[in-house]
Amino acid sequence: MPDNLRAINEHLQSRLRQDNRETVPAVEAAQWLADAGLLPNSRSRPGLPLRRLLRANRIFGQEQVPPRSGGRWLVRRLPPVTGYHAHIYYDETSRADAAVVREEIAAYFSVRLGRWRDQPVGPHPQAMYQVAFAPEEFAKIVPWLMVHRRGLTVLIHPETGEAVGDHDERALWMGRKLRLRLRVLR
Ligand code: ZN
Repeated sequence: MPDNLRAINEHLQSRLRQDNRETVPAVEAAQWLADAGLLPNSRSRPGLPLRRLLRANRIFGQEQVPPRSGGRWLVRRLPPVTGYHAHIYYDETSRADAAVVREEIAAYFSVRLGRWRDQPVGPHPQAMYQVAFAPEEFAKIVPWLMVHRRGLTVLIHPETGEAVGDHDERALWMGRKLRLRLRVLR
């Protein structure tokens, strides 16, 4: 594997955003990378170095159309993260702890606090309140929650506009993981 995989992936995504395109075919993407000096192309077999990375499943947003061996490779633009939510779960016995955590969050961080939800709502199977914050706040509030969550279950998820994935494969849990009702997001 090349040691600049991260730069390769970031370049593909930023070029897709810049050109306002949803996808790019692999051969064209390989030329982007060659032009940027990130991955030399093969003269005799254009696109081959990138196809090696695609076969190794190392390119963010990669897809095959149709989705099987022999399908045409392309790279899809991934939705940017516009912000994050922390969902703080509680029950009758832990509501007082949730109140302390809520007070501290309000005092220490730049966030938008949702209201108390004593009944399950949306995908959330248990009482909780939501804390919404910008990406810049992540490095402050998330490490703080790790230490100060008072044993409460906390779900952190990004907001990309694709709700199911944001609550599923892109979710981060602290404490006992709950089974979300993802059906309601579909
Ligand atoms: Zn949320």
